[in-house]
Amino acid sequence: MTDDPSIYDELGVPTVVNAAGTKTRLGGSRIRPEAADAMRAAAESFVRLSDLQARAGELITEVTGAEAGYVASGAAGALTLATAACIAGDDLDVMARLPDTEGVPSDVVMPRTHRTGYDHAIRAAGASIVDVGTNDRALGTGAVDVETWELAAAITDDTVAVAHVQTPDGRPALETIVAVAHDHGVPVVVDAAAQLPPAENLSAFVERGADLVAFSGGKAIRGPQSTGILAGRADLVESAALQHLDMHAAAPVWDPPAELVDLSRFDGVPRQGIGRGLKVGKEELVGLVRALERFVEEDHEALQADWRARATSVADALADVDGLTTAVEPGGKTAAPVAVVTVEAAAAGVDAVSFARQLRRDDPRVFVGSDRLDEGMFTVDPTCLTDEEAAYVVERVRSAIE
Ligand SMILES: *Cc1c(COP(=O)(O)O)cnc(C)c1O
Repeated sequence: MTDDPSIYDELGVPTVVNAAGTKTRLGGSRIRPEAADAMRAAAESFVRLSDLQARAGELITEVTGAEAGYVASGAAGALTLATAACIAGDDLDVMARLPDTEGVPSDVVMPRTHRTGYDHAIRAAGASIVDVGTNDRALGTGAVDVETWELAAAITDDTVAVAHVQTPDGRPALETIVAVAHDHGVPVVVDAAAQLPPAENLSAFVERGADLVAFSGGKAIRGPQSTGILAGRADLVESAALQHLDMHAAAPVWDPPAELVDLSRFDGVPRQGIGRGLKVGKEELVGLVRALERFVEEDHEALQADWRARATSVADALADVDGLTTAVEPGGKTAAPVAVVTVEAAAAGVDAVSFARQLRRDDPRVFVGSDRLDEGMFTVDPTCLTDEEAAYVVERVRSAIE
């Protein structure tokens, strides 16, 4: 928040002070300066993208412990590629047909409680989602989300994968899903888009048996927002690569790096695949590599302490405002602590919803966390705020009430 005009001022687009956390619709996270510098440098020359993908794959392999790694256009893009790989395997004809899956096994089994808006990314490859189980855990009767027999019964000859969305309190445990899926010879795809930090989660899901895992490159890793990581089994990552790389290739001279594609496994040159629209440029690939290197070296305890201090300072600075009650709620295992502000409409003269709307009209706009507006609460997430911006949020909240 300097007084210098930003690029957004030049473009006439209002900037946002982001107290809502790493949200795609607000631009993800602040890209690491090292990653942004690397992107500028990457723009200066040409490389073969498959070579750069192979290099990124080497780093992903190193930090995740997976057999292979690849970069797509966000975790959502990685999920589409993962699904396409599970459907097509090394069959060039099926690759060419997707998303048309008529007559091709293409069911993806999921516990019903794992369904999210992001599973459109799975269906986009041509899969049909078969969801099983109930939401009975919410009844508090001891009933579980999905029984293992239900999961097993849902897996048929048409099943190509079981999908698992990783969340801190999600059920059943990944190990349970892996055991049932592997028993039936079916791979498990994990959506772990927002499960970083802790950095150990980069390898945790592979260690627990996942065959493919998707992470966002533009959330806590703080790489380019339009990147996502796919890590997992080499044969599946290879299939994903073939369905993503630009394939206007002349067959006699098509010579992708051996680490990425084992040519002996394929009968010829694939066509442009289902993933072609999920392009990742050389600048983004290089930016992600640098950001991922920095992420694994980062002092995550110090970062948590910073976030806690910033959330606490916001909560403290608003505690004396009439009509507001504040608290700092610990993040779960992966999330940052946030300042939770309860708005008592009668005393504050404004309810939480109009409050959040009003803050969005400021210049710069302030976006607070709005997941709990229905409880009369908004949240201030410290992860995407500088200390100066946190002070601005406090000032805007106070002046909206006083
Ligand atoms: C953010 C998120 C995604 C999408 O990630 P992108 O990198 O923006 O594509 C998918 N699934 C979950 C659970 C997420 O939180």
